[in-house]
Amino acid sequence: MRPLAILGGTFDPVHIGHLNAAWEAAEVLGADVRLMPASVPPHRPPPVATAAQRVAMLRAALAGQSRLSLDARELERAGPSYTVDTLAALRAEVGARPLVLLVGEDAFAGLASWHRWQALFELAHVGVLTRPGTALAWPAALHEATQARLVPPAALADSAAGQVAAVPITPLEISATHVRELLAEGRVPRYLLPAGLLADEALLAPYRHRVA
Ligand code: ATP
Repeated sequence: MRPLAILGGTFDPVHIGHLNAAWEAAEVLGADVRLMPASVPPHRPPPVATAAQRVAMLRAALAGQSRLSLDARELERAGPSYTVDTLAALRAEVGARPLVLLVGEDAFAGLASWHRWQALFELAHVGVLTRPGTALAWPAALHEATQARLVPPAALADSAAGQVAAVPITPLEISATHVRELLAEGRVPRYLLPAGLLADEALLAPYRHRVA
């Protein structure tokens, strides 16, 4: 069955690095991918753009194709959400369809510190976004608990949850932090941002004349 994959993040703003990662993951996994903007916990610096502004930017970025979509459920709840709770809600909706939580290698390295992280594997697979040609770096804290779960990415379609795969993605050194800095300087990061976002200067207003 065609997997459903989730890419969470702040998306402040969404940029070509996010969209390319989501798109390549969709192709490698044969999946549909949902971009899921997160509420930020109180102890973290707040995003520059509001939740509604981040959603508007994602909508503009995703217009014109159907394989990548927006899932704003975490912003619709009060306060930050635990990933395990979000995955439980998704699992209840999709039945036996394969679910894949996409994470960067940095996030994967810290997985053992996540709330109820072992329960994640009962709900979803984990797809680790990696540089092509490099082996998946396996953090010591996770090694014993998860190494036996490793499968090739295409195999994630064969079951609902519980496996780990490296998903090779063309490396693009783009960060939202750097895009915010450029926008604050009045620059036009034409080829770092999706065209739909650049077409509407009002969407970028939160970042103009501000320190990123
Ligand atoms: P910031 O600079 O504000 O920290 P960011 O650009 O890292 O933001 P996030 O919203 O934190 O963006 O990222 C969401 C998800 O997208 C994360 O899983 C992250 O690993 C991934 N991601 C971010 N930038 C890239 C990129 N250039 N290529 C591939 N994946 C990326």
